[in-house]
Order: sequence, then C-alpha cells, then structure tokens
Amino acid sequence: MLSYRHAFHAGNHADVLKHYVLFEILQYFLQKDKPFHYIDTHAGAGIYALQESYAQKNEEYQAGISKLWQAQSLAPAFAPFVNLIKSFNASGTLLHYPGSPAIAYRMLRASDKLRLFELHPTDFKHLVDAIQSMSDHPKSRKAEISQQDGFAGIKSILPPPSRRAVVLIDPPYEEKIDYKRVSNMLADGLKRFATGTFIIWYPLLQRPEIGEMLQALERLGIENWLQVSLTVQTPSMDGFGMHGSGLFIVNPPWTLPATLEQVMPTLCQMLALDEGASFELQSHLV
Ligand code: SAM
Repeated sequence: MLSYRHAFHAGNHADVLKHYVLFEILQYFLQKDKPFHYIDTHAGAGIYALQESYAQKNEEYQAGISKLWQAQSLAPAFAPFVNLIKSFNASGTLLHYPGSPAIAYRMLRASDKLRLFELHPTDFKHLVDAIQSMSDHPKSRKAEISQQDGFAGIKSILPPPSRRAVVLIDPPYEEKIDYKRVSNMLADGLKRFATGTFIIWYPLLQRPEIGEMLQALERLGIENWLQVSLTVQTPSMDGFGMHGSGLFIVNPPWTLPATLEQVMPTLCQMLALDEGASFELQSHLV
C-alpha cells in the first residue's frame, strides 16, 4: 500500500522538529574533516512546492515552518536552520520546503555520500529531479537514489565504507507493521554498524503501536540514545489525529542534549496550537 504522500504534510510541525534536529546532527558531523554517509530509508519527494494543491489542502506548513519563517525576533539558535530553508526560496517568499534528502544534499560536502531510498514511483521521480536540480556538477556522484524498499535496501550498505553515517528512518507508518519493521531494522542495523547514528521519527497518535515500538527499542539495550518529543496540541477527544511527533536517536552527538534543552522550550512555544502543548527530552550517553 503506497497511498501516503508527504506533499500533504511538508513543512508541518513534525517536519520542523525532525529537520531541525537532522540539521544539528549533520552540522556536528561536518565539523570533522572526514567524509560520512547520509542514508535516508524513506526519502520522500525531495523538495515540496507549498503553493501546489497537495500542500494547500490543509496548509499544514502554516502551523510549522511558517511560524519560524515569519517570527519577528527569531531565537538565534534557529537562524542557521531557517537560513537553509531560505536558500531554497531565493525570491524571499516561502514557496518551497526541502525534505530531508534536499536538506542533507545542500549541507554535505563533495566527499560525503547520500544513499536515498524511495518506493513510491511518482515521489521517486520527483526526488531524482529535485536532487538533479540541486546538483552542483553534472557528473556529481554524491547521491545514489533507489526506488527500493528502504527497510531491505539498507541491509547491504551497512556498515558504510566511511564508518561514519547518519541514518534517517522515517516511514509513513500507514501500515501498522511499520512500527515492528522499524525496531527490527534498528536491531539488525546495530548488529551491522553499532557506532552509526540512527534517527527514528515517529508520530504521536493515540495508538498502542507507538508505545510498543518504543518498548521494543528499549529492549535493544542501546547505551547511547536521546529521545525528544513535541506535543503541539491536546490529544483529540475522538482519539483520531496526530497531536505531535518524536525522534529516537541512537548514538547522538554528545552536544545534542544541551542544544535541545536550550531550544525545545522556544520551539514548543512557537509551534503550540493550544494549552496542551509540551515537550519531553530524555537522554543517556556513556
Ligand atoms: N524523509 C522525508 C522527509 O523528511 O522529507 C519524508 C518521508 S515520508 C514520511 C515517507 C516516504 O516513504 C514516502 O514518500 C513514501 O512513499 C515512502 N515509502 C513508503 N514505504 C517505503 C519503503 N518500504 N521504502 C522506501 N520508501 C517508502
């Protein structure tokens, strides 16, 4: 089943949390003069046109990236991230929102490598076009893109030759089995590449599978981890809808807990939709 299209949700509160944290992690990796791999198991379409019908349907970006874009006095901690989004909007108006592969492609050096998986035929084509449109060199081989199941595809590329990698695992969870697939994938991924940095995104929904997945991740006995979640509104009375999102990160940069302690109160305030907004941040680093 491939009915999920990220274009409906591009730039929403969940994208802002995920992409801000991804940005911080990539910045950290870029500090070292040693190439690394960025692997995106569920890459999406790459760049999203916010004025097109998908994004306009519910205008989710208005309660997400627009809040940071329009802030009168943006907290300095968010300025580099917002500047990156601005680099996709040369006209000065927020028209385009970059997804995770486009953010990574823009940030990575020629010596770093991107390995992207996207199964949906239309979004795969958009992704190829988006990356090509950003390519600084016609023969650039920085990105390898496959129309393949990311859960299976990642197996053959871990560990990457560089032994340094950031892996984003961001499935649509439209099938309940995705929660189990994520924990199985992480268990397998850590056997192949114990020192990799894995970022798992998950929605906050009123469903048991999320808690079960987090418990399964806990049972893996991971030593270095960080978990951050952002609730933007009170969970609905009817039990439906996404009230926030979270990230479980294995082997995060040691600087990330302090960075998020500083920025999460502001991010929560900026993206809050009602008085039920809150965030949680936990980490364990040895
Ligand atoms: N990572 C993207 C970002 O942050 O910009 C968003 C990805 S979106 C949440 C999930 C994507 O996974 C969709 O584009 C969907 O078509 C794709 N997808 C679904 N199942 C997949 C699978 N088994 N392997 C690879 N891609 C898949």
